[in-house]
Amino acid sequence: MGKLAINGGIPLLNAETGVHPLVWPIRDQVTAQHLLDVYFSGKWSFNSETEQKFEEEFAAAHDAKYGIYMANGTVTLQCALDALGIGAGDEVIVPGLTWVATAMSAYYLGAKVVFADIDPETMTLSPEAFENAITPKTKAVIPVHLYGSMADLEKIIAIADKHGIAVIEDCAHMHGGKWAGKGAGSWGKVGSFSFQQSKTIASGEGGICLTNDEKLAELIYRCKHIGYSRFEKQGAASSKPPQGMPCYNFRGLAFTAQILRDQLPGMNERLAIYQKFYDILAKETADIEGFRLQKTGRLATFQGFYATCMFFEGPRWEKIPAKRISEAIHAEGASIYCQNYGPVKDHLLFNMRPGEYSWPEDGAPNTYHVWNRSLVFPHQEMFDLEFAPRLASVIRKISDNISEL
Ligand SMILES: *Cc1c(COP(=O)(O)O)cnc(C)c1O
Repeated sequence: MGKLAINGGIPLLNAETGVHPLVWPIRDQVTAQHLLDVYFSGKWSFNSETEQKFEEEFAAAHDAKYGIYMANGTVTLQCALDALGIGAGDEVIVPGLTWVATAMSAYYLGAKVVFADIDPETMTLSPEAFENAITPKTKAVIPVHLYGSMADLEKIIAIADKHGIAVIEDCAHMHGGKWAGKGAGSWGKVGSFSFQQSKTIASGEGGICLTNDEKLAELIYRCKHIGYSRFEKQGAASSKPPQGMPCYNFRGLAFTAQILRDQLPGMNERLAIYQKFYDILAKETADIEGFRLQKTGRLATFQGFYATCMFFEGPRWEKIPAKRISEAIHAEGASIYCQNYGPVKDHLLFNMRPGEYSWPEDGAPNTYHVWNRSLVFPHQEMFDLEFAPRLASVIRKISDNISEL
């Protein structure tokens, strides 16, 4: 019998000392009452006042001028690309590690998706790999602020500007994040956020585009609302959308906007707790050989967290599959969520045909390294600050008895 619980040893934690995640999604009586008010107002869609207020509040919180609310955080990416005129014959650069939606948004418009490798420390688009993937057909790049880090906006925007490429930030994980003091989503031409149930603020479904460009805001609005201009009434169009620009019904609802209006004021306080969790875990594990956390954004002055990632690397760990490590952690009583997205092209839901996308010639080694060596730790679990040092002791116990794995 070994020392590790996975081999029959005594688990380090129990039900009481194990993780106690924040009950998610947040629910309370105040929002329940607000939802009733929206219900009886009868103003459920069509650019309702509730939506407009949320757009203003969310844009202001991220230092952007305009917000365009819609149905989810995939169509926000699609509308951003659409408003920038991207379509068949164009190429869009996307990191090899992200949720499939980032890549699919370009595919829906007929553009070719060009994957580029990531930085192994932050897990976000590598500026060098991005620059190497540029061709005369490249029209846009979508850096993703993944889990608990921000893509290197400064370097990526400098490269994009040099080549005349539009930057769309995928901020589905980066609500509240600030890069050099300025909000995530306000750096690129457009910032796209998702409010899907698991995200850092959540309304089941929902998404928003942020931009500082009035013309783009208008085009994005037309894209999500069948072609109507921003303040035209449904059924009373007085101007046409640009010829050939695909326009859809991607409208969001007042109900979900109301939930988000109520969640927004508490967001930064939660993010500060997540940062504390990160700091405790990093400090308590600093001397464990081959263990590290995902690096936060180089110039992040306030880091957003959808999750963070734990890495097990180097000669000590490299032969032990991440899945086995996750099982050992669970056996010790730390029943944490561990699922990583993995390389987009290998995702079960990824179904583009050859030629509709390209994968880096070098195989994107960093994307695979990260996939093989990291475990994800979601934000709701980072809310439990007492758990942080206990998780550190679980990792230490496994490290001390590594030969048992
Ligand atoms: C969740 C997510 C999206 C899309 O959001 P939906 O609202 O689920 O459509 C896009 N990009 C990333 C990185 C995401 O995690």
